[in-house]
Amino acid sequence: MKSLSVDQIKKQNFSAGPAILPATVIKEAAAAVADWNGSGLSILEVSHRGKEFVSVLEEAEALTRELLGLTDDYAVLFLTGGASTQFYMTCMNILDKDQTACYVNTGTWSTKAIKEAKLFGNIEEIASSKDRNFSYIPKGYDIPDHAHFLHLTSNNTISGTEFHQLPDTAVPIVCDMSSNIFSRPIDINRYSLIYAGAQKNLGPAGTTLVIIKKDILGKVERAIPTMLNYQTHIDKGSSFNTPPVYPIFVSMLTMRWVKAQGGVAAMEQKNIAKANLLYKEIDRNPLFKGAAAAEDRSRMNVTFVLEKPELEAAFLEAATNAGCVGIKGHRSVGGFRASIYNAMPIEGVQVLVDIMQEFARQNA
Ligand SMILES: *Cc1c(COP(=O)(O)O)cnc(C)c1O
Repeated sequence: MKSLSVDQIKKQNFSAGPAILPATVIKEAAAAVADWNGSGLSILEVSHRGKEFVSVLEEAEALTRELLGLTDDYAVLFLTGGASTQFYMTCMNILDKDQTACYVNTGTWSTKAIKEAKLFGNIEEIASSKDRNFSYIPKGYDIPDHAHFLHLTSNNTISGTEFHQLPDTAVPIVCDMSSNIFSRPIDINRYSLIYAGAQKNLGPAGTTLVIIKKDILGKVERAIPTMLNYQTHIDKGSSFNTPPVYPIFVSMLTMRWVKAQGGVAAMEQKNIAKANLLYKEIDRNPLFKGAAAAEDRSRMNVTFVLEKPELEAAFLEAATNAGCVGIKGHRSVGGFRASIYNAMPIEGVQVLVDIMQEFARQNA
């Protein structure tokens, strides 16, 4: 059987996660599985303590620092357990039982983070957009000064909303950036901790990037299991136990690619152009309507519905026939969701826009 080369694959991958990776990264990643750098070994079978992989980890950390402008006050870790493990690992490490943390509830993932956080301290849900199915980002709420930290989900992968501005507060922010990390510049000084599962905008599933301001650690009274203690992983350079070698390697390749694109500022410009192209069509086309409040629309996950829900199946079929994959909306929102992460080229977005226009002509 003859298999297709990466160049011949004509699918447009709009999946929410695991998600699209740059075509060149897929090629390099595939080559390293067969024979890594001419070593005669696969990347899948090398020691995590060998100097080759140690240099991958070092480069992954260095690229994270360079792309996000991190100072030495911050540690960079590549862990396992997904963003879902960070929902509680954060609080276990930095929130004492009698301390208060404030959470803004902007969707399914924030809700899950709040549930876990409550096991470790006083959690105040200071704002929520649940009243309108998380279709907007709450604004104008008070953030109490006694808050130990403020937890935000910077991009809401399911409902398709994104913080385009941080709340005006001096309270340090803990942020779930799983679905928009490296998509735009950030002001690192506002954050004491950032976490992101790799499989949305960074690499394959299997590793979680965690960025921590080191001086927030070592202050809670509770005993922390070794594997769940950030300090363990800082002391051992993310190799206390066997790290997820391949997901870290592919994430490193993706960061090299982001750097070659011009870094996160250039990525942001491309992401704005892609999002504008698709939202413009949603607003223009009489068959479609956006699911999120216009000012809070995500640049990464574009959610939309059909004015006539009975046309949904036909649109899904038309899109699928044209090679668009992964656009069915999450069951909690319905309709459609096109995830247009860093690796999605504008040409891919144009394919979807063309289908929407053709669909409107046929169903006028
Ligand atoms: C996907 C996602 C998660 C969950 O990530 P896992 O790695 O599956 O635990 C958490 N937060 C956000 C914003 C996500 O998009």
